Amino acid sequence: KKEQEEALRRANALEEDDLNSLRKVSRQEYLRKREQKKLEELRDEIEDEQYLFADEKLTETELREFRYKKELYDLVKKRTQDEDNVEEYRIPDAYDDQEGGVDQEKRFAVAVQRYKDLDSREKMDPFAEQEAWEDHQIGKARLKFGSKNKKASDDYQFVFEDQINFIKESVMAGENYEDDMHPKEAQDAAEKTALEELQEVRKSLPIYGYREQLLQAVEEHQVLVIVGDTGSGKTTQIPQYLHEAGYTKRGKVGCTQPRRVAAMSVAARVAQEMGVKLGHEVGYSIRFEDCTSDKTVLKYMTDGMLLRELLGEPDLASYSVVIVDEAHERTLSTDILFGLDIARFRPDLKLLISSATMDAENFPGRRYPVEINFTSAPEADYMDAAIVTVLTIHVREPLGDILVFLTGQEEIETAEEILKQRIRGLGTKIRELIICPIYANLPSELQAKIFEPTPEGARKVVLATNIAETSLTIDGIKYVVDPGFSKMKSYNPRTGMESLLITPISKASATQRAGRAGRTSAGKCYRLYTAFNYNNDLEENTVPEVQRTNLASVVLALKSLGIHDLINFDFMDPPPAEALVKALELLFALGALNKLGELTKAGRRMAEFPLDPMLSKMIVVSDKYKCSDEIISIAAMLSVGGSIFYRPKDKQVHADNARMNFHTGNVGDHIALLKVYSSWKETNYSTQWCYENYIQVRSMKRARDIRDQLEGLLERVEIEISSNMNELDSVRKSIVAGFFPHTAKLQKNGSYRTVKHPQTVHIHPNSGLSQVLPRWVVYHELVLTSKEYMRQVTELKPEWLIELAPHYYQRKD
Ligand code: ADP
Ligand code: MG
Repeated sequence: KKEQEEALRRANALEEDDLNSLRKVSRQEYLRKREQKKLEELRDEIEDEQYLFADEKLTETELREFRYKKELYDLVKKRTQDEDNVEEYRIPDAYDDQEGGVDQEKRFAVAVQRYKDLDSREKMDPFAEQEAWEDHQIGKARLKFGSKNKKASDDYQFVFEDQINFIKESVMAGENYEDDMHPKEAQDAAEKTALEELQEVRKSLPIYGYREQLLQAVEEHQVLVIVGDTGSGKTTQIPQYLHEAGYTKRGKVGCTQPRRVAAMSVAARVAQEMGVKLGHEVGYSIRFEDCTSDKTVLKYMTDGMLLRELLGEPDLASYSVVIVDEAHERTLSTDILFGLDIARFRPDLKLLISSATMDAENFPGRRYPVEINFTSAPEADYMDAAIVTVLTIHVREPLGDILVFLTGQEEIETAEEILKQRIRGLGTKIRELIICPIYANLPSELQAKIFEPTPEGARKVVLATNIAETSLTIDGIKYVVDPGFSKMKSYNPRTGMESLLITPISKASATQRAGRAGRTSAGKCYRLYTAFNYNNDLEENTVPEVQRTNLASVVLALKSLGIHDLINFDFMDPPPAEALVKALELLFALGALNKLGELTKAGRRMAEFPLDPMLSKMIVVSDKYKCSDEIISIAAMLSVGGSIFYRPKDKQVHADNARMNFHTGNVGDHIALLKVYSSWKETNYSTQWCYENYIQVRSMKRARDIRDQLEGLLERVEIEISSNMNELDSVRKSIVAGFFPHTAKLQKNGSYRTVKHPQTVHIHPNSGLSQVLPRWVVYHELVLTSKEYMRQVTELKPEWLIELAPHYYQRKD
């Protein structure tokens, strides 16, 4: 009642005068008209609301809506009064200058080439150049920043000599116009507990309006497809609704995510919303990390983990509902899950398939227009271009957070460092810019930082991978910087070689990325490529993973689920037949399948490990060579993901020396990793020791966790832990027994040639063997940068190949 009275009082305060006073202030005709129109509409609506109120028909939702419209009105009023303040950050007309002149060069080819050219990037020290640049700029800034009465844009012109010209191309339509329409916390927030507040927020999500309908549909159908805009609440809310409706009494509710970060972060959020400790009622499970307990009823997990759970529980008996979320991503695991058609065997299991809206022009509700800008000319270095664009937005555009899409952890870390340097150079001349990186190996406290509200007057820039396309929604993003690349697995079924490549994204991805800018207000997207590139070089859609990956691990999983006829398996998009055959061949060569394609005892053991079959084979074989203890340490170190060693800029020589210590005797990279692990273990896992040896503590801790898990799995497949540190050749033989398809022979010119499918490759410069150049090597993986590099390399004796992989290699007579 009191709330309603207050609402009425405030509505009455909206006098004609207030509106008139707004008309006086205007610089940009366009903006002014739009705001005015908005206000008039608003007033009409509020009058309507008053009418409703008079009839006492105002529901709670209506009242809230009314309240935030009023707030919006206040906001607009305030903004137009602080006009000077606004002007300072207003967009200059830079984009209007260039007309037409779209450069038709194949910018993508150029950019890919430049990026691949890692050598030259490594040679130049970006920081030395940076410091010189900063000194130079600070000198200038002192001269010019003092001068008043100059247009802000002139000042900034010189700060960003390297600015990028964008051409505004189009505006992606939205249903709403301008300004932040996000409901604010209630006035009496202070009296509420944090939990109550979270409940309010939950109710404000678009999906809340469909709660009953949704639950009804779940009740009536076994399989349900749910499509909704990113951020509407699918991932965080649906499992909670199901829990509230009692589904968790019959079993767990599982919800799959395509990426680790999403599973972790969403679980943390839901635990918070339910007021429980993460890992209790709400938990997550990702490879090598199980944060659940007996209490867990809502379980978020990567889709790969659900597939693994199927191996132990083929009918998913402990689940009452499984939600396959982000289904549009079409990961290998989700494709397989659909192919398995679990719902058929479990009539009482509910299967929900949820996906973001892919039809970009047709987003329902809550979407604001996004202005799309392309560069006028191709940008050779997209990292540099991204940084310049972020800084330009920061000094020129009204407040609102920025989201930058990069391809991986390394790039994100580099961008973070350079941005910090540059901001330091600008000092207090600019507003605060908070840099928030996000990637899987980042500690979860720091991951959570991206969701913290931006302090008033500051701006946040989130550096993310394509996880932020649809899996994670960060509120308050107004600007998106899209370099147009992502890291993609690619697989050549002819050679059986798999590599991670930095690849241009698809048009569908580009649209999703742009859409992130228009979630809570009108936004802008800066694409660091030309409109010509967009139209001519980008594929319409991303190729599903099943068609560009090594299928060995999936085939092994399917075989152990008892599915033999893979050719007729119900794939949504069947993988190339060649890739299937290749996978079968590899598993046969590894001894996981027999001649009839049936799972062998070794294959059954291998399937227990959540690893690539080559790694699993290495572990299973180590039993025979009595070195399982060493091999699981190596497998754990290889699975860490992030890098083990680091090189601080000012101590590179020390760091390199420390690193070379582990390579004494040219033991090879695998053994060096083993030595790092064992030495660390000897110091009782000392952090200090890591510092002294320039080793990343975080990576080591992760290796330890992984190793613990592998040790548990050894017990399950009845392999005893045995150590054979004095016989390093047994360790090497175990490696070769798993990785024999990855062997290469030295050529006269110092390069290598892969043995099975001849291709020229090189030892990665970071390898301990890069100067040694043994005649025969086995490698862990290939990475394509400026050249095709072998990473983690060990020397082998060629006769081992015939001994360990007789199906694969034969002696040439
Ligand atoms: P959808 O799955 O439909 O894309 P989500 O359920 O992921 O939507 O997100 C709903 C809302 O919850 C969004 O506004 C998002 O910003 C917020 N949210 C999600 N995860 C977190 C988190 N870890 N911290 C804070 N807010 C979050
Ligand atoms: Mg989601």
